[in-house]
Amino acid sequence: MSSQSPKIGFVSLGCPKALVDSERILTQLKAEGYEIVPRYDAADAVVVNTCGFIDAAVQESLDAIGEALHENGKVIVTGCLGKRAELIREAYPDVLAITGPQDYASVMNAVHEALPPKHDPFLDLVPSPRRLGGADDSDIGIKLTPRHYAYLKISEGCNHRCSFCIIPSMRGDLVSRPVDEVLVEAEKLVKGGVKELLVISQDTSAYGVDLKYAAREWRGKAYRTRMTELCEGLAELGAWVRLHYVYPYPHVDEVMPLMTAGKILPYLDIPFQHASPRILKLMKRPGNIEKTLERIRAWRAAVPDLTLRSTFIVGFPGETDAEFEELLDFLRAAELDRVGAFAYSPVEGAKANALPDPVPEELKEDRLERFMEVQAEVSAAKLRRKIGRTLTVLVDEAGADGAVARSSADAPEIDGVVRIVDGQKLKPGQFVEVVVEAADAHDLTARLRG
Ligand code: SF4
Repeated sequence: MSSQSPKIGFVSLGCPKALVDSERILTQLKAEGYEIVPRYDAADAVVVNTCGFIDAAVQESLDAIGEALHENGKVIVTGCLGKRAELIREAYPDVLAITGPQDYASVMNAVHEALPPKHDPFLDLVPSPRRLGGADDSDIGIKLTPRHYAYLKISEGCNHRCSFCIIPSMRGDLVSRPVDEVLVEAEKLVKGGVKELLVISQDTSAYGVDLKYAAREWRGKAYRTRMTELCEGLAELGAWVRLHYVYPYPHVDEVMPLMTAGKILPYLDIPFQHASPRILKLMKRPGNIEKTLERIRAWRAAVPDLTLRSTFIVGFPGETDAEFEELLDFLRAAELDRVGAFAYSPVEGAKANALPDPVPEELKEDRLERFMEVQAEVSAAKLRRKIGRTLTVLVDEAGADGAVARSSADAPEIDGVVRIVDGQKLKPGQFVEVVVEAADAHDLTARLRG
């Protein structure tokens, strides 16, 4: 890229969905001849992709905007917090523009206004810039994840109205990408070296419901825009396929045969959030918790190696001691493999803020600690059972101390890892077989299989 190209700094905050937005914006910026630079002082302007999910994320986003303004001065804000423009304007009246999540065109307009793209005779010969995220993408674009894994966003928005969540008001109702678009993108990613596809959305089980599960053609075969059929298509690509944000609707049973056949990873990320029917009702959660344990048992009978990951909120308004104990009992009975938990914290604009009987801060923290202790025991016991077993793992990095890899049970960033003590010579993106030698509450230690 010419040194005369306008230079953009980019700060990406938030969840994997925001990361995918960042990748799309960066891809478009590059396609239009902007240079992406890693330092504030080298940039002509800075784009900050924000998160607004919980108060801590709002603060982190505001801090990032403040830092960019201080270090650079020309700042364009996008992402979830962009929906609360007044909050940003109040703190930082000097930001150049504020746009919301997935509003790629507005971000690009704001960038054009601040920094007109340079006419580049080479780039201008390139046929029209890619339609971002569409089936006609001419390559895989810019990825912020390492080369060997990628998030595959299958839809935006959500049809649920969980009382603690403001995502539907920020991102709107569910809008699914037609299945052929997703499969074409996945195919390009795999051709580009991606070994693991992480399917993300707000509600993967609901995929396609807005499109009435419309059938589309891919590789000469009809696929419906629906979770099971999407998985069948993805299974054709020969990469690891990992499902996130799956709600326990009955049709989740349909993907079990794909897992047993080794076509998609035996892994489900299901955000249960709680186990007490009354609290779940107050949370307005989808799914039927009464049947959850039964379903988990049936899934495990069908797929013995199934890894279940979940997230929970403790200290939701009105949560009694007995309801909290109910949650701990569920945790012990369900023996989930991976669990994340948060002490409830109000999110501005969420309906749950109006609920009576907030749990005192200290009690919330206390419950969180007890929750994590119970889960650490469950997790340690489950991981201990893996000692002596041979696992296929995907290498993330390697160095003088060995390699860090992940098995089918470990999603990047959020789960544990498998440390390979003799993996110094391995390469990121490589699949190898290892024998597990030791385990702690989260991670495994292993050696290459001789
Ligand atoms: S399912 Fe509930 S928590 Fe998840 S995005 Fe939708 S409304 Fe929010």
